[in-house]
Amino acid sequence: MRLRDPKVSSASPSMPARRLRLASIRPQVAKPAVPNRDDAMRLAPEPMMVSDTRRHVVYVNPAFETLTGYAAEEIVGRACGFLQGPDTCPAVQRQMREAIAAGRPFKGELLNYRKDGTAFWNEVTVLPVFDAAGVLVQFVATQRDVSARHVAKDQLLLAARVFDEGSDGMMITDASQRIVKVNPAFTAISGYSEAEVIGHRPNILSSGRHDASFYREMWRVIDASGYWQGEVWNRRKDGSVYPQHLALRRVVGSDGQATHFVASFSDLTERKAAEERIWRLANYDPLTGLPNRAFLREQAAQALEQSRHGGDPSAFLSLDLDHFKNVNDSLGHAVGDQLLVEVARRFRPALREQDILGRVGGDEFVILLPGASARDAAQVARRLHELASRPFQVERHELMITPSVGIAMFPFDGADFDALATRADVAMYRAKEMGRGTSCFFTAEMQAQCTRALMLDNLLRRAIERGELALQFQPQCSLKDGGLVGVEALLRWTSGELGPVSPAEFIPIAENSGLIIPIGDWALRTALAQMRRWLDEGIAPPRVAVNLSVVQFRQPGFPDHVRRLLDEHGVPPGRLELELTESVASDDPAGAMAVMDALHAHGIGLSIDDFGTGYSSLSYLKRFKVGKLKIDRSFVASVTDSAADQAIVSAIIQLAKGLGMSTIAEGVETPAQLEALRQRGCDQVQGYWIARPFPAKDLPAYREAHAGSRSLLQPLTQGVYRRWARRLHGAS
Ligand code: C2E
Ligand code: MG
Ligand code: MG
Repeated sequence: MRLRDPKVSSASPSMPARRLRLASIRPQVAKPAVPNRDDAMRLAPEPMMVSDTRRHVVYVNPAFETLTGYAAEEIVGRACGFLQGPDTCPAVQRQMREAIAAGRPFKGELLNYRKDGTAFWNEVTVLPVFDAAGVLVQFVATQRDVSARHVAKDQLLLAARVFDEGSDGMMITDASQRIVKVNPAFTAISGYSEAEVIGHRPNILSSGRHDASFYREMWRVIDASGYWQGEVWNRRKDGSVYPQHLALRRVVGSDGQATHFVASFSDLTERKAAEERIWRLANYDPLTGLPNRAFLREQAAQALEQSRHGGDPSAFLSLDLDHFKNVNDSLGHAVGDQLLVEVARRFRPALREQDILGRVGGDEFVILLPGASARDAAQVARRLHELASRPFQVERHELMITPSVGIAMFPFDGADFDALATRADVAMYRAKEMGRGTSCFFTAEMQAQCTRALMLDNLLRRAIERGELALQFQPQCSLKDGGLVGVEALLRWTSGELGPVSPAEFIPIAENSGLIIPIGDWALRTALAQMRRWLDEGIAPPRVAVNLSVVQFRQPGFPDHVRRLLDEHGVPPGRLELELTESVASDDPAGAMAVMDALHAHGIGLSIDDFGTGYSSLSYLKRFKVGKLKIDRSFVASVTDSAADQAIVSAIIQLAKGLGMSTIAEGVETPAQLEALRQRGCDQVQGYWIARPFPAKDLPAYREAHAGSRSLLQPLTQGVYRRWARRLHGAS
């Protein structure tokens, strides 16, 4: 018997021709265990199977039984293909069938299945056996479990894919630190192609941000442990520097020497961006982009802590859209969602940068106004109502929606986010009960205060056109010679509904609403017109002082505007003095200085009102083009009995002298105060002791009353002033 030359095996063209002596093996169908067979086969460590020409199993050896889990008696007589299963490659099966049908040997690898169903890679060699006459009598197949090799191959493939497709940059260098391989992620991150770096040292990536000792330490760790990881700044091909997380591993050969170094790194810029995205998702409402409740609570804690620290109040507004549910129900959620987006978009710009607007539920918004008073809060609420009163355009719908606003004040109504939120909600529900589209404070007292503020604000809007505003003038006298140095113009408002309202009450409201611009302008024009009249009548005081709000002062182009008004009224700039407060310089000292310089350049006098009550920076003060400091009334009031206030008054006077400025004390009510101020070197005085503010028409009478005396101050101790004052005001 001889084996045919296996020239044409499709699956193993290189298999060497072999000759086997298998004469004793005969096909014995359906009869297990052949007694007379070759011991070599039974004892062979290779699993073997003999089949007849019809490809039915004739014999399997014990090694086969061990490999497949089948006992010989279970399979003898069965068709040979019983090891094949669902994932056996059909192409290889076909090759095997064709080789066998043609009487050729076959060698190939197939996925086979054991009796217990587990798969294994089987390297099968099938040899046809011929008798002496050259007739095919049997097939002998040997099996070899090559699963381990397949797993190794799969793992190599996997490793290659990780290298090629992974998002981490990888770089392999040889033992002498020359780059031998990089992956596509390396190119994506660094900008260098493989060709550009092969053969180079990794330091072509260095950013220059780490010194030699950094790299020395890195290599010390690698030498000691074979591994280093950390954050490194590298430079891309385009020159940009980026942070990366780098892991560096030494690969050693069988002799223990380093053969390669493998570096893998991830670009942390990406990770940081991802972290940022995740952070945004966790902290912001995805619909409106506003902070969500969790983030609001965190931000509020910080803001409230600051308010606590500075002793400032803060306001907490809870805002709910009235009948929002109707929008959702009748027009659908998409329209409702868009409306919420529009509301947020309209509200946000109406708030200051430090204010926090968040969305905490369907149609519920929350607004924290750090540092805001109750009046500020009412003002903001009013602005939000105004903003909401214009229809919202969503798709083709024009939607009208009113908010209800509840206001709680920190620290009076609550000390933290949750307490304030609860109380603001209570107030918001009360606002809804009151008829929706309104605001409500948590406490009745604040409610009353703000109701009055709102009312004043409303009435003030019409005050100019109704002619309810007027100016009074208060003399300012020199302490040296008692002469009149100027008059301060003071606003008076007599409301048709409320009667006289103090400027101390309505000026801050007008500043909040912006009404101070037209009102302040009115005051300035009226004072200049009056000065012109006095000049014409020949009784003009040397100067008229006009109070200026910081809001007016910060109007763009303000100095030129004043200059124009002076020209319009034909008043020389030296006849006007503007009274500023220290707060003009609080936000933007450089900007404030530029405005002061411009006013000064026009020849307009400047003084600082209520000096000592704000937070003046002395380093700025010395650069301000200010001629006069007005010592605040509060210091003057106790200059005769408080040692501290005496010290302050003296200090202000000395400070002014040192800076080349003069001083005027306001609110002088007694001759003792006047004397104390004179002793300390104060230049000028103003106050009820000299004269109360009076209407412009009374200036001639005032001057006439003093006509006989040298000084406007003297008669005070005599009685001329009293007589005059009685005439004017009926005062005693
Ligand atoms: P101010 O500029 O410090 O004005 C001095 C205030 O003290 C005036 O109050 C004046 O009537 C009052 N006063 C004068 N002498 C005495 C005194 O001997 N004793 C006491 N107790 N008070 C005295 P008024 O007129 O109520 O004005 C209050 C504040 O309103 C002013 O303080 C000023 O800040 C502001 N104001 C008044 N008119 C205007 C204006 O036209 N524009 C602006 N922006 N603010 C104005
Ligand atoms: Mg003043
Ligand atoms: Mg003052």
